[in-house]
Amino acid sequence: MSPEHSFPLRNGVLHAEDIPLPELADRYGTPLYVYSRAALQTAWQRYERAVAGRSALICFGVKANSNLAVLHEFQRMGAGFDIVSGGELARVLAAGARADRVVFSGVGKQSWEIREAITAGIKCFNVESAAELDRLADIAHEMGVVAPISLRVNPDVDARTHPYISTGLKENKFGVDIHQAPSLYRQALQHASLKIVGVDCHIGSQITDIAPYLDALEKLLTLIDRLIDDGIRLEHLDLGGGLGIRYADETPPEPADLLDPVFLRLAAHGLGHLQVVLEPGRSLVGNAGVLLTRVEYLKRTEARNFAIVDAAMNDLMRPALYEAWHGVVPVEARASTPTETWDVVGPICESGDWLARNRALPLEQGDLLAILSAGAYGFSMSSQYNTRPRAAEVLVDGQDSYLVRPRESTRALFASERIPKR
Ligand SMILES: *Cc1c(COP(=O)(O)O)cnc(C)c1O
Repeated sequence: MSPEHSFPLRNGVLHAEDIPLPELADRYGTPLYVYSRAALQTAWQRYERAVAGRSALICFGVKANSNLAVLHEFQRMGAGFDIVSGGELARVLAAGARADRVVFSGVGKQSWEIREAITAGIKCFNVESAAELDRLADIAHEMGVVAPISLRVNPDVDARTHPYISTGLKENKFGVDIHQAPSLYRQALQHASLKIVGVDCHIGSQITDIAPYLDALEKLLTLIDRLIDDGIRLEHLDLGGGLGIRYADETPPEPADLLDPVFLRLAAHGLGHLQVVLEPGRSLVGNAGVLLTRVEYLKRTEARNFAIVDAAMNDLMRPALYEAWHGVVPVEARASTPTETWDVVGPICESGDWLARNRALPLEQGDLLAILSAGAYGFSMSSQYNTRPRAAEVLVDGQDSYLVRPRESTRALFASERIPKR
């Protein structure tokens, strides 16, 4: 089932599964994040089918969408989780995750976060520096436990051939230089409080070509051979996340397009026994969500036409942050309104507060718009800038809708603030 099936147009009205979006807007207000349970399941099943019969673990990249209902959905379907903070650890545990299916990535793990992850009993720490390795060893030693580790290596995949990847290059802050990895693994061996279980990389996001993954895999295989020579045997190989989705006209690979060659290559290299771990975020949730917003005002100026909507950069930051492109569609078709070119902008006092530019749309004040592909890095990146309560989130399942996070109240935004008495 493609996302078009989860958000179908019926009788000129956009739906979330079987519910007309105007009904959800009336019931829950706007701006509103709407997720389709069927779309989450479909995205998950693509990965599940691609690893069927193999030793593999798909760890949902929590930062893409960390609502407990979404996490619970993946947990129920058998997912593990890739977390990047103690906060995300607390979330996945609250959603019912099995700690032994949780991997912990991130360049800046604090001591309390490491302690909590050890206490929970996570599957693996993806260590990103020599300093972190030492800190982790010390904490595990103090706690009298052995912590499972993998090194996140930076494979320095060639940027010129693959310009859209951004975290697997030498100049990025992520991971350890793959050439320094063997000595760091030997350093890890010296610590009785560490157990080496894997190797890991995550080369970027919204990747629409499998070539960089396979380049990275080759480099990891060379590293693994070195480690075997040093007497280090791994249990798993983690290729990170990053598979892209269709926002506009991209044709991203399916999970199987990536995983089939990976399994073949591992088997050919005599490493068929290694468990393959993946950390997909965007490709599991991106097209399972839309952001529903209402046009507050239409403003025509000499230079441009602005449709000022009730969602803003605090709700969906990707356009402001990365100049990201999201599809924008009217929720109800209007044959009588002429199409004009609009910039869809929010009410925030920043010129960067736009959601879409130069879109041909037939618009009238009060219309509902759906901002598409908003299930990943949408709500999870939202803020309360301009003292705007964060949007509500709704999960749709067929004809049923569930409010999985109510709209924040204005008072709650500053309820814990204090004016000092002097
Ligand atoms: C963000 C992130 C992911 C998920 O990336 P997607 O592009 O959403 O698939 C996976 N692993 C790590 C380490 C990350 O930082």
